[in-house]
Amino acid sequence: MPDFSDLPPLPPLAVLAHVVDVHCHPTDSPLDPELFSTLPHRICAMATRGTDQELVADLARRYPDKVVPCFGYHPWFTHWISLSDCPSKEAHYRALFLPAGESKPEHEVAFARLLPHLPHPTPLSDILHSLRASLTSFPNAMLGEVGLDRACRVPYSPPAPPPYASSASCAEDGGARELSPFAIPLAHQVAILEAQLAVAVELRRNVSMHSVKAQQATLEFLARTKARHGRAWHAISVDMHSCGLSAQTWAAVEAERACVVQKTHCNVFLSLSTAINARSPAHTALIQACAPDRLLAESDFHDIAYSAPYVWDMVCRIADARGWPVERSAEELEGDGKEGVVRRLAENWQRFVEGGHRPRTHKKKDRRQLLLDESESDEEAGSAGES
Ligand SMILES: [Zn+2]
Repeated sequence: MPDFSDLPPLPPLAVLAHVVDVHCHPTDSPLDPELFSTLPHRICAMATRGTDQELVADLARRYPDKVVPCFGYHPWFTHWISLSDCPSKEAHYRALFLPAGESKPEHEVAFARLLPHLPHPTPLSDILHSLRASLTSFPNAMLGEVGLDRACRVPYSPPAPPPYASSASCAEDGGARELSPFAIPLAHQVAILEAQLAVAVELRRNVSMHSVKAQQATLEFLARTKARHGRAWHAISVDMHSCGLSAQTWAAVEAERACVVQKTHCNVFLSLSTAINARSPAHTALIQACAPDRLLAESDFHDIAYSAPYVWDMVCRIADARGWPVERSAEELEGDGKEGVVRRLAENWQRFVEGGHRPRTHKKKDRRQLLLDESESDEEAGSAGES
């Protein structure tokens, strides 16, 4: 059994029942029916590649009250997807990894070593077809995990069958796999992300999005998506999962009052995990920079046993960074007038699920009201100074 003694003690079930782990990967580990049938909280279970979409669907069918299924293709595996319908295997990977005129002789050697371990590419049209089928078979399903990653390199080891966590090809295993020199070109990742997102917008589904070392590309992607889909874009919610954006970049995404501007988004939320974000002290600044009604918590763990302890750890970190009280009993949760972290995050999740966001603009009337508010607060400040 894992050791959670460094983490804050879990609250009673009545409190945990209001907590949602908005991003984790439980199908990376063998299914433990005992843990799932006694799960104290709710989770969003991510799919990442062809072989785990059905595992996520199965989990959601077994535990519909606990699991929100999320279907989609992670950026780390987008090289397995071809934009055209039936390319030869070698031509597909050569175009991605050895673009004409740019390859070095040592890359030819690496390519020859890697190619036999790569699967035959799946056409994007097939991917979108099965994505659509998965999303439509669950009315509450989300798109995830999708995104952009400029840090990842393709490993030499062949793709492992699930459960991935018990194989050496598990994500982020700190160098257990030997990496090839090849990265997946950003333009390829963007094309696959755009296509998946178009399905999500059409079906009005929320999104869990990954972004690593791709701040500028992510901002540009969001702006393009907003321009392309217009109103339909605001109908859905997007969670930047284990958000690696700086507090400054986040402020640019939000810019609440300027949501009509192409680069800002009233439908984008932010979730943090201890596993990824707490490695850097910058996560506290990010929590503080985020609007209080856009924060969510996640574990990003590959094993359901870690989900509750780690999502609760992040709930407590958010409370710390914001100075919000932590509810530790049903009474505290129900109590009036208290803006506790569990209640706030539960309300944020509700807002996320409902979607239908509205850009807040300053109409003429608003501006008058704003001036009025300002003069009132000046008066208050003045009278406070006198006393
Ligand atoms: Zn993830």
